Parts: sequence; C-alpha cells; structure tokens
Amino acid sequence: MTIKAKLKAIPSVEKILLQPLFEPIIQDSSRERVALTLRDFFDICRTSIKNDITIDLSIEAISSEIKKIIRKEDSPSLKRVINASGTIIHTNLGRSILPDKAIKAINLAASGAVNLEYDIERGKRGERDSHIENLICRLTGAEAATVVNNNAAAVLITLNSLSKKKEVIVSRGELVEIGGSFRIPDIMKSSNCKMIEVGTTNRTRLSDYEKAISNKTGALLKVHTSNYKIEGFTEITSLKDLSSLSMRLAIPLIEDLGSGAMIDLSTYGIPGEPLIKERLMTGADIVTFSGDKLLGGPQCGIIAGKKELIKKINRNPLKRALRVDKLTIAALEALLMLYLNKDTLKENIPSIRYMTRSEDEVMTIAEKTAHSLKKIFNEKAIISLEKGYSEPGSGALPGQKIPTTLIIIKHKNLSPSSLAKKFRKNNPSIIGRVQKDSFILDPRSVDSFKDLVPSISF
Ligand SMILES: *Cc1c(COP(=O)(O)O)cnc(C)c1O
Repeated sequence: MTIKAKLKAIPSVEKILLQPLFEPIIQDSSRERVALTLRDFFDICRTSIKNDITIDLSIEAISSEIKKIIRKEDSPSLKRVINASGTIIHTNLGRSILPDKAIKAINLAASGAVNLEYDIERGKRGERDSHIENLICRLTGAEAATVVNNNAAAVLITLNSLSKKKEVIVSRGELVEIGGSFRIPDIMKSSNCKMIEVGTTNRTRLSDYEKAISNKTGALLKVHTSNYKIEGFTEITSLKDLSSLSMRLAIPLIEDLGSGAMIDLSTYGIPGEPLIKERLMTGADIVTFSGDKLLGGPQCGIIAGKKELIKKINRNPLKRALRVDKLTIAALEALLMLYLNKDTLKENIPSIRYMTRSEDEVMTIAEKTAHSLKKIFNEKAIISLEKGYSEPGSGALPGQKIPTTLIIIKHKNLSPSSLAKKFRKNNPSIIGRVQKDSFILDPRSVDSFKDLVPSISF
C-alpha cells in the first residue's frame, strides 16, 4: 500500500465511536473525551505513517490503545514512593512524613468547614495564627510567633518587614545556598534590603560587624550553615556577642536557623542542631525555621521572637501573599501538640522515629529484605549487607551521620543504574542509590521490609 492509501485507511472518529467495543470506554469517561483522545491518537498515527512506520489500525488495537491513554491520564502524577535513599528528610521526596495525628487533622480540615479565622466564643472574625501561636510560644519561649509558606518566605518577609531599604549585615561565612534556589544574596535583594558582607569565608569577628554598622543598618543576620561545614582555621562570632551589639545599638538580630530543633536531640544520640529555645534565650530577636525539616511537620516557615517585631511582620502586605492554608494550620497544630508530650515524641513523629530507631531494628529490616530479595533474584544477583550511614537530610545536622545497615545489590547482567530504574518502575517506586558498582537500599527510613521487596520480576 502506498503511504497515501495507508493514510486514507485511517477510520473516521465518528465511525469508531459507534463500534460496540467503544461503548464501555465511552461509558467510563465521556463521548467527548474519547473523541478527543481518538483525534489526538490518529494525528500521531498520521505522522508515523508518513515516516513509514507500520501501525495496527484494527478496531481491537485502537480500542486497547485508547484505553491505555485514558488510564494513564487518570493516574495521578504525584505518587507514593519508598524512600530507601539514605536521606531521611529528602526534599525531592517531600521531606517529612506527617504524624498520624497531623494527617487526621488535615482530613478534618479538608472535609468540612473549620473555625480557621472565626472566634467561636464571640461569634466574630478570628485570627488564623491563633491556633498555633500560643503553642509555638510555649515550646520555644518566644513572646510571639507567626507562620508563612516556608522558611524561605519566613526569611524574606522578616527582612522586608524589619529592614526594607536598609542595610543588613551578614558574615561572608554564612552566605548559603540551599537547594539551588534559596541564596542569601538573592533573598536580600528580593526583600529590598542591601546586603553588607563582613569578615571572610572562614573567620568573622565581632569587630567586623561593629565596623559595618551605620545609621543605615536595619538588622544583623545570622544564618545557620545548614548544608556545609567550614573546618580548620575558623572563627565565628557567637550569637551572644552579636546580641550584646544588637542590644546596645537597638538593631534587631535575626537568625535563620533553617531546621532548628524543638527538643534536644542529643538525648537520643543525635547532637549538633541548635535548639530554637536556646537561640531565643541567647539573644536572637527573631528566629526562622522550617516546619518540614527536623520539626517533622507540614511545609511552612515559622517565625518566632519579639512581640513588636512579629507585629511588624504581620502588618506587612506580603503576609497575606505568603500565609498558609487551613490544611497546614491543622497539621502544624497537631504536630506542636505532640511536642507537649516529650516522652512519646519518638514514637509519634516519623522523622524523629527514623533518626532515632536503634541500629538493631534497622538491621532486622535489612536482614529480612535481603532474605526476600535473594529469593526474587535467585542466582542472578549477589545480595549482601554492609554497615553504613544515613543522613538526616534537608540541611538538618550537616555532617551528622547515623549508623545504618545497607542492602547492597550487585546484579550479574544488569548495571546498577538499570537495576535502580527497575526498582523505580515498581509500584510504589523504590528509591535507592547507585554507588560505584552496586545498587544500594537504606532501610532506616522504611517502615517494613515488605516496602523494599519489589513485585516485578527480574
Ligand atoms: C532549608 C533552609 C532554608 C529554606 O527553607 P525552606 O523551608 O526550604 O523554604 C533557609 N535557610 C536555611 C538555613 C535552611 O536550612
């Protein structure tokens, strides 16, 4: 057949729609959608035919193709995945997994009307922050607090509210970039503040800050260097020293903590993250931190500190643009309530549970996984266990390593990256990591070994 004849052989959409085989497809979606899908499909067929590619245009083949397209369109793009990457709070995998209580609270807020900005007692308009402000203050010792979309927004609105068109002094050792798009110099610009860098990458002294002070100074900014560590010949100015300077000159001292810890994790064997409460007590006038990093809650940025400063932030028109929705308020309130009972935190907050579960518990999951994988792979792969380390992730506790047991898979025919791809193709996707000549699964942030055993064949 000539190409022209082949093109002519493509049936009409109207004719196809009348076929009995299409009746159930139309019933499941709609006539209009099936027609549209058919039209798009035939367009693709035409291009293929012109390129001399043979296509099966039987009614059975067309119907199965259309069903496949519609099924694909109807499956959500956002899916559950298994995080066996070894990074516990993984930004690309949605950071913290919420506690059950927070999930229940989201469900409740999503499925009905709630008193988000309504004072039930007085029958009048209320405040969105009223549901979480007291809890944050109680847990951090702050005078006042508010919440915005994320910590980047928290830093932005804080700088803009307190130091617009003024100079903000920051150490050259703290000009961080977090996850590609959050860079201190850019945030300064977006906040309409002039950044004054002081000191050097490895050493910044109090006198460096002092020398940079002028009548245009709007704030002193300290940034937690979340994702890197400077070692060797270093000197950083302590918050305490900066605090006396800021008090003497009546210039606000802002600290971006990034993650920040609500409880002292060193009691669980994970030292190193600054305690929010302690930073405020030492003299930060405002601290900002993420809701979905170490805190273990929903994505949001928490701003806590002095009452008059929080008032200024709340009056900023940006607040309306950056405010959080009812689902976030619901989850955050439930999370913060969990922090009131310190003894049960470990069981109730998944991020903390994953970080603090014992090496033995992780090893048991690794052993069970290895056992099942050996059966699946038969002789086609070598599965072994090896001691290794997990990372908290998301810039929490930089350099901190948590001991774990890794499952190492070496396939005889598949390369580590093809093996990784196969595991990703599983439903749900299992996300591990490729390292040298192996594919590696870290069970530390996985609830059950069953999650690590793919149902596909190899
Ligand atoms: C993570 C982080 C941010 C950004 O927080 P998001 O919640 O991701 O917006 C800002 N500053 C520091 C120091 C951080 O660690």
